Amino acid sequence: MRTAFISDIHSNLEALNAIFEDIDHSSIDEIVCLGDIVGYGANPNECIDLVRDRCPIIVLGNHDAAILDDAVLQNFNPNARFAIEWTRTHLTKESYNLLESLPIRIVSNDKTYVHSTPFEPKKFHYITSVEDAALNFRHFNTRFCFIGHSHIPVIFMNDVGNKVKIAKEFHISYEGLENQQFLINVGSSGQPRDRNPKVSYGILDTDVKTFEIRRIVYDLQTCQQKIKDAEFPAFLYKRLAEGK
Ligand code: ZN
Repeated sequence: MRTAFISDIHSNLEALNAIFEDIDHSSIDEIVCLGDIVGYGANPNECIDLVRDRCPIIVLGNHDAAILDDAVLQNFNPNARFAIEWTRTHLTKESYNLLESLPIRIVSNDKTYVHSTPFEPKKFHYITSVEDAALNFRHFNTRFCFIGHSHIPVIFMNDVGNKVKIAKEFHISYEGLENQQFLINVGSSGQPRDRNPKVSYGILDTDVKTFEIRRIVYDLQTCQQKIKDAEFPAFLYKRLAEGK
């Protein structure tokens, strides 16, 4: 079984199309979306339609939640808020209904799916250190927990009784690592922030026991032009080229 994980698309249709094209050439059986379909970009409805069609598992991100709930929106910075308010006025009823239907966390067999953290997922904390990860390993019981939210891919490993560590590679084998638990951030499929403008997604292969992060080139200029044309703050299209 090969599962692809996308996250933090943020209405970037060009990135999403490029990732789905790569997925279509990668013998993928199932696609999971870890939230934040909308915000920051100019194609919210198109992205929601694609994700709805292709992902049987989708969890709620903080930007998705901010569409629905002013209490979430009030924590946003002015650029992020601008994009959410624009998105609210452009969403179709069907798109709104899809966001409203999303759960905050899904547990399925040996996997947990959540946008931010297994600890207090509705508070949308960030995991930015091994200390944060160590706390969160105490809040899920499955072998794997897949997250997004920070827009920075990282694989944390917890060898029971030992310290949490970060995998040195973005392509790992877990063959023979029966005691390891994994907390994996798949990065952002629409707005990377690790100084690499290529968008990110993950693939778990449970037959050969590997996980990898893939980085994909997409039509950045078209995406930027759409954000300009929608008269968003300049920061929101400039950041895409810099990966920050
Ligand atoms: Zn996000």
